[in-house]
Amino acid sequence: MPWSNGPSRTSTPEWRKIRRACITRDGNTCAECGADGRQVRLDCDHIIPVAEGGTDTLDNARMLCTTCHAAKTRRETERGRARRNAKRYRAKEPHPMDAILAQQQANQQCEQH
Ligand SMILES: [Zn+2]
Repeated sequence: MPWSNGPSRTSTPEWRKIRRACITRDGNTCAECGADGRQVRLDCDHIIPVAEGGTDTLDNARMLCTTCHAAKTRRETERGRARRNAKRYRAKEPHPMDAILAQQQANQQCEQH
């Protein structure tokens, strides 16, 4: 779940302030489908997710309707899962140093005999 790392980042007073500034800048419409904020609920979205290095700034904010926001969050969750899988895969691979150390140990054993 996207919020499993703690409370939602969108609930902070700073982000609420950015949300208001974002509506002033972009208007009360969805940045992707143009849905009207008076007819649908709009969320203030991090363009670059915080998990990917995005910041709590107006530059990184835009309004999305819940439908577009949910689709984007789903894509981000899939990217996050792919990142975690990639990390796990790398961890399984032997470290290059292990091979070098094993070779050195083998050489030392040869010298001892
Ligand atoms: Zn939308």
